[in-house]
Amino acid sequence: MISENDLDEIGYFTMFDKNNVPKNAFEAYSQWVEGKILTKGLERQMENTLGLVGEVGEVAEKLKKSIRDKTELSKDDMIKELGDVLFYTAALANLYGSTLKKVADINQEKLNSRQARNKLHGSGDNR
Ligand SMILES: [Mg+2]
Repeated sequence: MISENDLDEIGYFTMFDKNNVPKNAFEAYSQWVEGKILTKGLERQMENTLGLVGEVGEVAEKLKKSIRDKTELSKDDMIKELGDVLFYTAALANLYGSTLKKVADINQEKLNSRQARNKLHGSGDNR
């Protein structure tokens, strides 16, 4: 039987953050994304940014077609497109010297702060 000491020795208790997300999952994904990037420099910045915008557009397009054609929205298709959005988000985070984990942490801190100050409504990046 595995003891608590065994788990401590392999670092089990430090593998998850306060939200029970494995600490290294985002980092591993960010590294994996980096291995798929085909462009460099300004070309990469343009390709990754336009890729992100395009994939967000695909999410909107699937919803639009579902409404227009009165068909059921495929959750599986939406999840696939969200994966594409995630890919380009990670690619851009890498490009700007960050990681998907840092992007998630910063976003979480920002929204928690807004919620604590009752500022989830309204507009402005720095409210
Ligand atoms: Mg796509």
